Amino acid sequence: MREFLLRLSENKRLAPFIIHNGVSRRVARRFVAGETLDDAIVAAEGVNRALQLASLDLLGENVSDEAGARSAAAGYRAIFDRIARERLDANVSLKLTQLGLDLNEDLCRELLEGIVEHATSLGNFVRIDMEGSAYTQRTVDMTKRVRAEYSAVGTVMQAYLFRTEQDVRDLLAAGCRMRLCKGAYKEPPDVAFAKKSDVDANYVQLMKLLLPSGIYHGIATHDPAMIQATKDFARDNGIASDKFEFQMLYGIRTDLQRQLVREGFRVRVYIPFGTDWFPYFMRRLAERPANVTFFLRNLLPRGANGEKR
Ligand SMILES: Cc1cc2nc3c(=O)[nH]c(=O)nc-3n(C[C@H](O)[C@H](O)[C@H](O)COP(=O)(O)OP(=O)(O)OC[C@H]3O[C@@H](n4cnc5c(N)ncnc54)[C@H](O)[C@@H]3O)c2cc1C
Repeated sequence: MREFLLRLSENKRLAPFIIHNGVSRRVARRFVAGETLDDAIVAAEGVNRALQLASLDLLGENVSDEAGARSAAAGYRAIFDRIARERLDANVSLKLTQLGLDLNEDLCRELLEGIVEHATSLGNFVRIDMEGSAYTQRTVDMTKRVRAEYSAVGTVMQAYLFRTEQDVRDLLAAGCRMRLCKGAYKEPPDVAFAKKSDVDANYVQLMKLLLPSGIYHGIATHDPAMIQATKDFARDNGIASDKFEFQMLYGIRTDLQRQLVREGFRVRVYIPFGTDWFPYFMRRLAERPANVTFFLRNLLPRGANGEKR
């Protein structure tokens, strides 16, 4: 099921049907703050009121022309302006294929540098999301290149990839801030752990490399076992709770987000918004079978008594 949904998430012909379907739009609103920047700002205000930080993601990936890449870059600069104007405690997350990585690497770098420079001028920070393994090396390289000039940029490491420990060591040597996650894409067995227990074990091992580094990292997971391992390791090694942050996705385990804040941890909520929500939505469905059941139940027509059939 996971593989099937992840394959569908890359299907550009299916996207318009899902995006324009009323039921999918309703279900997607659980994971996506809305289609406009105003929607994302309202969500970020709510997150800040709950004493959490935010990261805003203008949804979009694999743009097909330069105009699309330039428009995404302009969108990101506008987000930073709005964050500053509303005095929100928020940064942004973006994808390099949204800035044209597939089209022209120089264009992508120029646009990324423009965004990071703008973020720097406002005292803010850019997180480069990690995409499928076809992009890992280019994302690491681009992060290192841009980080050599601006410190306000970091990236994401995926615990399911065999190569990640080496990447983490490399990026730590460059002083880079990282977000650690398990990984959300369909990967072949020659590059990634297939078993959840192996991914989890690697996640814990990588967390133990990141936390003592003295660099501020994000531990991104909804998995109570990963969270407990992080809390235990931080306590046993005298790492204060303000030296790292937990990160979770909008609409997922809100209870856990609030609990961590009550316990005194920093929590950042990743808030996606925009019209191009299809691949993000499909990845969230793929992560949990119950999400698919919920989606399918909503798709079924209602009976005369209002019951789903
Ligand atoms: C802030 C943040 C940023 C991320 N950025 C990236 C990125 O740049 N690149 C990338 O490849 N991946 C990214 N991810 C996704 C990540 O790789 C995982 O796919 C996702 O977080 C699920 O893994 P998990 O750690 O929550 O553990 P899992 O073992 O998958 O889940 C643990 C528990 O969390 C809950 N849960 C997890 N996912 C869902 C869901 N979709 N719906 C409902 N409940 C759920 C369930 O209760 C589940 O039992 C990001 C995740 C977060 C939190």
